[in-house]
Amino acid sequence: MSSPALYSQHDNIALITLNAPPVNGLGQALRSAIKAAFEIAKSNAEIDAIVIASSGKLFCGGADIAEFAAGGFHTEPMLPGLLTELENSPKPIIAAVNGMALGGGFELALACDYRMALPSAKCGLPEVNIGILPGAGGTQRLPRLIGAEMATQMVTSGTAVAAQKLLEAGAIDRIFDGEPSAFVDAAIDYARELIAQNAPCKTCADLSVEHPGEAFFTEFRKSIARKTRGFFAPEKNIQCIEAACELPLAEGLEKETELFQECMQTPHARAQQHIFFAERAATKIPGVDPKTPLRPIKTVGIIGAGTMGGGIAMNFANVGIPVTLLEVKADALERGLAVIRNNYEISAKKGRLTDAQVEERMGLIQGSLDYADLAEVDIVIEAVFENMDIKKQVFAQLDKTCKAGAILATNTSTLDVDEIAAATSRPNDVIGLHFFSPANVMRLLEIVRGAQTANDVLMTTIKMAQRIRKMPVVAGVCWGFIGNRGLEPYGREASRLVLEGASPEQIDRVLYDWGLAMGLPSMIDLAGIDVGYLTRQGNRDMFYGRDPSYTAVCDKLYDQGHYGQKTGTGFYIYEGRDKRRNPEVSQLAQALAAEHGVEQRDISDQEILERCLFPLINEGAQILDEGIAYRASDIDVIYCNGYGFPVYRGGPMQYADEIGLDTVVQALETYQNELGGYGQTWFQVSPLLKRLASEGKSFKQYDAEQAS
Ligand code: NAD
Repeated sequence: MSSPALYSQHDNIALITLNAPPVNGLGQALRSAIKAAFEIAKSNAEIDAIVIASSGKLFCGGADIAEFAAGGFHTEPMLPGLLTELENSPKPIIAAVNGMALGGGFELALACDYRMALPSAKCGLPEVNIGILPGAGGTQRLPRLIGAEMATQMVTSGTAVAAQKLLEAGAIDRIFDGEPSAFVDAAIDYARELIAQNAPCKTCADLSVEHPGEAFFTEFRKSIARKTRGFFAPEKNIQCIEAACELPLAEGLEKETELFQECMQTPHARAQQHIFFAERAATKIPGVDPKTPLRPIKTVGIIGAGTMGGGIAMNFANVGIPVTLLEVKADALERGLAVIRNNYEISAKKGRLTDAQVEERMGLIQGSLDYADLAEVDIVIEAVFENMDIKKQVFAQLDKTCKAGAILATNTSTLDVDEIAAATSRPNDVIGLHFFSPANVMRLLEIVRGAQTANDVLMTTIKMAQRIRKMPVVAGVCWGFIGNRGLEPYGREASRLVLEGASPEQIDRVLYDWGLAMGLPSMIDLAGIDVGYLTRQGNRDMFYGRDPSYTAVCDKLYDQGHYGQKTGTGFYIYEGRDKRRNPEVSQLAQALAAEHGVEQRDISDQEILERCLFPLINEGAQILDEGIAYRASDIDVIYCNGYGFPVYRGGPMQYADEIGLDTVVQALETYQNELGGYGQTWFQVSPLLKRLASEGKSFKQYDAEQAS
């Protein structure tokens, strides 16, 4: 195996080439190899300057993820110390940044004396996204080079910035416009040029940061407050930049270390790192070879140009994949295409697209009223009404029309994908692709694997999801799959709590304060009380068979024509963008409570939180036990990407791990006993959850055991 850092001498220049594929992750092996190579160069009297370059496409992706996951990044040589050694080098060091330099990778470049980059290179400090801050000098060196304002922006957003912009800002000294293959030679020439000019070693310790004034930080904090609500790390990143403005480098670095450790110990960091790894794990399917040959996806057919079909079509057009959009009636098609155009034009008005791009994308979406136009497409995604008979008719028609090997997908939210597949003679080509609304915006794609879905169909759709920039998570077939099935008990409790005397405002406040984008009553109003009602009518046994009390409030609102935002009244009264209390809801709840023999009472915030979240965790455990989800972490990815769960909580299962599964079990058992027949019906603890709690285990341990 070749060394993770190669050393070579080019006359009086030493070249250290980072050589740890795929991303030059700064694990212990690479750090040691850099240190060893640096020491050779430093002690060799023939060497006047050192170039650090990369043998790969990236300059350096930052911390080694596997080492990070194992909590082992404390092994010597540690990055901060190594970078200080490089910074204090008596010989100038030139970073040759050929591609992405992220996190520790950018910090490595910042500790060098000079930085040369290819125009395509980008640098960033994305640590905030995993709940921490750049802990190897990034927050102290970067503002010394580019100023506090831009550095604050970079560390709090985590966004990578293009080389040209960094050149203008002062973090890059030179851009090489020649052939990328000549880049390393050019960096060596640059080193020679610097030596010839007697260019000095430049250390950030000699630089200070001009304080932008208190008002800058106050305003900046305000500007990100909404987006960063509940997160811990953004504020600590800002404090680091403030420290850089006030302290000499050595003390600033100490402050950075202190705040880094503070971040690392938070549940927020644990949760965000959990989601980071969970998203990477989600595309690995147990028992399916990741190298399974894929089916080509060059053209797409979509059936139904309604809310979902239009949004789904946009995803493909956005990445240059042509779409045929099929409708039953010309007016529905026209309407659908007009909505798509309008969405693109809104983006153009906001400056996100040019007019030419709008036309290009619209040009990729061809409307059709004729199934024959779908004969040659590689995949069809059906997004017609949520009705089994209609879906079966559509799939029978697709079976007759589509070429052999075409993937036939349904966007159903709840229906049995196997039953839909049975309407065709090729159930192995059928799969569920459950997009979320708005489909052109929401990142989650729940992929529903039918009993007979072929492995290559599954793997092709996972890859396709990534191409259209979605986060795929695979679920098995059951009512509502993972997302909507888990949402059901959570919505049930919110409705029942209103019956028991909680106000929609109280429920919303508790859930919003916990970190959800929106509380449940508001969400139900947004989704439409009619939508929920119609779903229940299609599944009466499931919804009314065991205990109908919890649907009483929503059903009554439906009967009275209060469908939520769309009719201006629901749990709230809506006037334009404003919403206010609907006094009728409490009167209605009181009357219905009496009718159902439910005693109304004051309900604590804690009870509201537990009653909404714990049944979701319980259902998650059941989903896991039934094999509908492969991992607890998949459930978390679903809720964080599709249901407005805050990433800093890590999803319901990670939250359960954080507070302890025994806490969840005890509370569920308490409600089971305290809520009479209702409690007995709905608060039975899932056997898996009970077992894990009694063994003192977490869902994370369960996932690890299943994977081994
Ligand atoms: P919609 O009513 O907005 O659109 C459905 C469209 O399908 C209509 O334009 C209709 O004319 C067309 N259509 C009906 N029958 C057809 C047929 N036989 N052939 C061709 N076109 C036909 O519905 P929607 O909200 O877009 O939902 C579509 C599907 O997506 C449903 O299965 C739904 O459960 C699912 N879904 C919806 C959401 C959501 O939030 N709206 C989210 C996820 C999944």
